[in-house]
This record gives sequence, structure tokens and C-alpha cells, in this order.
Amino acid sequence: MKAQLLTRIDKIENHPLIYATVPDPKPEPDQVLIKVKACGVCYSNLHMIEGELKQFGVPSKLPIIPGHEITGIIEAVGSQVKNFQSGDRVGTQVLWKTDGTCEFCLTGRENLCLKRQTTGENVDGGYAEYFVAPEGFVHRLPDNLGFEESASLFCPGITGYHAVKRANVRFGQKVAVIGIGGVGHMTLQFAKLAGAETIAVDTSEAKLRLAKEVGADHALTPTELNEFIVSSGRPDVVMVHAPSQKAVEQALRVVKRGGVVLMGVCGDAPVKFPEEYSIMGSVIGTRQEMNETLKLASMGKVRVDYNSYELRDAEDVLIKLKQGNIVGRAVLVP
Ligand SMILES: [Zn+2]
Ligand SMILES: [Zn+2]
Repeated sequence: MKAQLLTRIDKIENHPLIYATVPDPKPEPDQVLIKVKACGVCYSNLHMIEGELKQFGVPSKLPIIPGHEITGIIEAVGSQVKNFQSGDRVGTQVLWKTDGTCEFCLTGRENLCLKRQTTGENVDGGYAEYFVAPEGFVHRLPDNLGFEESASLFCPGITGYHAVKRANVRFGQKVAVIGIGGVGHMTLQFAKLAGAETIAVDTSEAKLRLAKEVGADHALTPTELNEFIVSSGRPDVVMVHAPSQKAVEQALRVVKRGGVVLMGVCGDAPVKFPEEYSIMGSVIGTRQEMNETLKLASMGKVRVDYNSYELRDAEDVLIKLKQGNIVGRAVLVP
């Protein structure tokens, strides 16, 4: 099959990704073989390619096929697979497999599993024509959702959904989302669904336009946010989805006393303890939350804003992403 193969850690402009022909993957007894129809392009793919996830042991092997927001059609199933058959329309998220036995798995927090394997980071992912996954981690795609429009529900969708639940966003709260990328534009929609007054914050006009399109009550630059809080008060919840230390610092500065700053990105944050806010991390989400995310999209409550590109053009797309020129989500199509 054709696949984008990451051969070494390097700046994307130095071509560490090679569009190569590799052997087709074969499903193990408990796995399904998926013919990939679309795979979203995540900023964390870029972080991995450029070595910023080495501190987390990612990638754990080289070469590796990146990509973890995958939709497709089941082409073959292993001998022990019970719930899927060839022809089923499915998707898989970042969480490729967990051990099912650790303290986190046993308490409904499998996204924190001590032995979790993540798609395209520990095992080959979806920048390819085919991909294998354990059947327990495969989700059926609702009939009314297309492959390309739903690929990114499997990372930004689930991540935004989980973040809003985790921050305990409630009716009537003011919620600021800093960074309206793939994840931010989904987080905004889920916060709105939860009943919040939503404030989108970004430096890019195009991204602020998208924020308005998906229903943000306010769309502001970081400077405008500073002015906004003077007239309208500080937000109860600030979610940081921009890979920027400045964004983290602004979040800590503007959050309401007693409020919540939710970090959806890496970053160091000094805590002003007398203000008694919580700083929380948030990472992907559980399989149950994936099902709930799909349900909400299927009901037309949220949608991924996406543009499709040829799989062969992955490098160009990643460069555009790095330059901040991808609005919504880019999806690769083999
Ligand atoms: Zn992702
Ligand atoms: Zn576990």
C-alpha cells in the first residue's frame, strides 16, 4: 500500500516524511483491517514529527505511519472478531488500545491508561491506505456522517467533548477558548451546547470567522479579550488549545476567581493559589465519550469544518498547518 512514513525526527521542511510503498498490514485475530477513507491532520502529528513529543516517548518506534483521526470501511476481520464484518463503516480515535486492568481503566479513565497505545504514535496510523485496530476500539460511523466530515470527530471532536465535560461547563457560564484550531472549533461548539456564553480567542481573522460560523457568541483577538473582560467580566472557564506560552499566561491572567483553566496543550503554568482556581490537563477521551461525540454529530449538533487533501500531499499540508494556514481541519484522502 501507499503510506506516509516517518523515517526520522526532523523539521517537516527537511522531509522526514516519505510517501512510500510498504507492505499491507495484516489483522491479528482480534483486529480489523480498515481501508482508510480519510485521516485528519493533527497539530500533534507535527509535534511528533519535529521531536516535541520525545519527552513522552513518542514516537515509540521508527519508521512509523502517523495519523490518528481515521475513518474507513472494514476490509477484513481477524478470526475472533465478533461485532464487525467487511463493509462496515467505522472510525478509530487516538486511543488505539488499553490494558483494561490498570487503576485508570478500572475507574472509567482509560484515556489515562498506564499502558495505553496511541494510534500513529506507538502503532502505525492512518496516513495510509490501510490500517489495523483491535475491534474493541473501533466505532461504528452513524449512517448520516460522511468519512471526511467525521474523521476529525475522532480527535478534535472527542478531545473537545471531553474537555468541556472535564471543566464541568454549566449553563450560563462564560467560557473562553483560546486557539481556534481543529480542537478549539469543536470545544466551542460543545461549550455552547452545554449552555455557556462562548468567547473564541485567536490571532487569526480566518479562525475567528470560523468561530462565528460554528456559533461563538464572541470572537476576539487576545488584545480584544483583555478589553472585553473589563466591560463584561472575567470568564468562569478558560480553555487553552493554542500551542503558545502566551496563551497559557493570558488564560491564567483573565480567569475569574474560583474559575477553571483547562490546558489542552503542553505548557508550564505557575499557579496563583490564593485565587483558588484549578488547572487541569485534558487528553483525548474514553470510548463511551467517543460514542457520545458521534451521537451529537449525527444529530447535527456539532460539525467538523474540514478541507480534503490528497494523501500524497501530507508534507504540504503539515507545512501549512505549521504556518497557521489551516482553518478548521485538514483531512488526508488516500
Ligand atoms: Zn489529534
Ligand atoms: Zn489501563
